[in-house]
Amino acid sequence: MGTNSLFERALGRLDEAARLVDITEETYIRLHHPKAVLSVSVPLRMDDGRLEMFAAHRVHHNDLRGPGKGGIRYHPDLDLDEIKALAFWMTCKCAVMDLPYGGAKGGITVDPKKLSQMELERLSRGLIRRIADFIGPQVDIPAPDVYTNERIMGWMMDEYAHVVRRHEPAVITGKPIALGGSQGRSTATARGGLVCVQKLAERHGWSAEQTRVAIQGFGNAGQGIARLLFDAGYRVVAVSDSQGAIHSDKGFDVPSLIRFKNERRSLKAVYCEESVCDAVQAERLTNEEMLQLDVDVLVPAALADVITGDNAGAIKARAVIELANGPTTAEADEILNEAGVTVIPDILANAGGVTVSYYEWIQNLTGDYWSADKVEKRLQQRMSHQFDRIQDLVDEHETSFRVGAYALALQRLGAAAEAVGTRDLFNGSK
Ligand code: NAD
Repeated sequence: MGTNSLFERALGRLDEAARLVDITEETYIRLHHPKAVLSVSVPLRMDDGRLEMFAAHRVHHNDLRGPGKGGIRYHPDLDLDEIKALAFWMTCKCAVMDLPYGGAKGGITVDPKKLSQMELERLSRGLIRRIADFIGPQVDIPAPDVYTNERIMGWMMDEYAHVVRRHEPAVITGKPIALGGSQGRSTATARGGLVCVQKLAERHGWSAEQTRVAIQGFGNAGQGIARLLFDAGYRVVAVSDSQGAIHSDKGFDVPSLIRFKNERRSLKAVYCEESVCDAVQAERLTNEEMLQLDVDVLVPAALADVITGDNAGAIKARAVIELANGPTTAEADEILNEAGVTVIPDILANAGGVTVSYYEWIQNLTGDYWSADKVEKRLQQRMSHQFDRIQDLVDEHETSFRVGAYALALQRLGAAAEAVGTRDLFNGSK
């Protein structure tokens, strides 16, 4: 409580889970200290000939269970503290999904919307030249995150190959299929979120047609889940982006929303100046108003700290599916728990992305490429299995999904720490 540090606040979520599982204090201590942090300045020659410098970082949080894994974010407000928090969540997420990875994360403090395509490419390649010694297929494997995408991953893979003078596609995931990307990667995060919605629907007897969903953020994750929910018969009644939200109780025709958003680059295109408005009958809301709509499922799929102590009491959804990382503060969590809102935490709900990144890495290392069907089935099975393991802990300890997920992660991280050796091993008591 009381700290502004997202990393400190993220670590605070371990405490309750640590009381439920049998782990040594050493596991807990290790997780409080990132293994290594690299901070660099990336020079960028702008199109007009000027030189600009950008601050960038890469954090290895923990590699007990395998090489670091985590995205690269471009955002004007990004700082090292946030990257540490994101890297810690990756350690926990990979443990929850039982992937042979630790946690890492990185990014550049930049507003990519202010760069030309060529500046963006030069900056992305420049970052890889700066961090090349810190990443690698058995060291740390980056992937896309907010405002980075598969094209950027392709440039980065290409630049890494120039630096190390060999083809090394397994150094980065989320690549275009033409460069060794996996089938199903672009929709994987959303597909994992869909599994969570379906598991809850099954347990509570919700029918798809009657389940109303609001989605905050309409990028890769948000559009993806909107499309999958729409295809599965759910009613997507509100969506938002950084400019605002639209709402229609009848539900949107999601494919046309996606088409408009991507053609006009903003949901403004479906506001009332456009003819589609007649068809969708949308009401315009602020992001804050959208969070408080009377819906069944709320999906935050944008940035951290959007559901807080100030607005959690007004949330009417029965379930929150955290596709974004860290959207709910600890204070908000308490309020939602009290109100009986089921929160499926980020380290489970958005883990579909890293899971298919893992499949991409396997395919790159073996040279054996899988069909979309195989990727989808394996993702579905793994998500469903880990969801059930967490549900068991939730039922056993009468606790929240978040605490259950951290407890499962701690069990697996604790087993790895003990296998490497803890005090109990060295003083002969084990
Ligand atoms: P993205 O850049 O594709 O999309 C981000 C979206 O959020 C955009 O539509 C943007 O307009 C919107 N947005 C920005 N500020 C907003 C605000 N203040 N209010 C409402 N909307 C706002 O990013 P993404 O890859 O979809 O990632 C979104 C979230 O999901 C992040 O928290 C990310 O860490 C998490 N996530 C993504 C993946 C993935 O595979 N893409 C995997 C795991 C977690």
